[in-house]
Amino acid sequence: MSTRRKLIAGNWKMNMLRADGIVLAEAVAARRRVENWLPCDVLICPPSTLIAPVVAAVAGNDVAVGGQDCHAKVSGAHTGDTAAAMLKDAGCSYVIVGHSERRTDHAETDAMVKAKAAAAHAAGLVAIICIGETLAERDAGKTIDVNRTQLQGSLPEGTNANNTVIAYEPVWAIGTGRVATPEQAQEVHAVIRAELEARLGADEANKMRILYGGSMKPDNAKILLALPDVDGGLIGGASLKADDFWAIARACEDE
Ligand code: PEP
Repeated sequence: MSTRRKLIAGNWKMNMLRADGIVLAEAVAARRRVENWLPCDVLICPPSTLIAPVVAAVAGNDVAVGGQDCHAKVSGAHTGDTAAAMLKDAGCSYVIVGHSERRTDHAETDAMVKAKAAAAHAAGLVAIICIGETLAERDAGKTIDVNRTQLQGSLPEGTNANNTVIAYEPVWAIGTGRVATPEQAQEVHAVIRAELEARLGADEANKMRILYGGSMKPDNAKILLALPDVDGGLIGGASLKADDFWAIARACEDE
């Protein structure tokens, strides 16, 4: 059995206005209050407009809040962007960087993701660094190479198990309802763990959490979360319903 505590992270993406977001955050907090013994950390990553109200809604209930992206620079003339320190100041403890939607929509490269993760570390945030192959890359037999390359290019100096979480998110599984098989997920997670070991040493690699993301739902969470190198989930669609999100958290029981 792994000693890594699982992390159940909800990525709300560009969803929710204030009233519904507060209701959802309060519903997650209420479930956490009752089932605080569940052996996992719980994280909500709302859109930036809702960070403050979500922080207030979950306060005191052992639910962490994170940003969905940050800028690599500390401050300055970057209209529309958010610095890692601003997220920290608003009550966040995590930030997602390198999500495939950012890599696609904003042409983010591994080097940019690495700089953002470094900025997150400098601000005292845990960086959730996302990697994953497209369907074309998988079909071309490039899955392992692509994930290795993205990981190598996205980890900043100073990465350790306390300041970094990796999220393996096969792009073809995000928001599609098509989930990686347990074999596919475990294969890539094991490769990521081996790469982390080569880079950081066995100790840090064994402590670092590697999340699976891509259509994780209540009905597939248990089998995915039971895999030896899967240490939690990054959950999009199912995090928008408190019952579904919580059912996934409950799937950590007994793991
Ligand atoms: C995600 O956005 O990180 C994600 C995994 O989305 P979904 O769960 O909807 O596939």
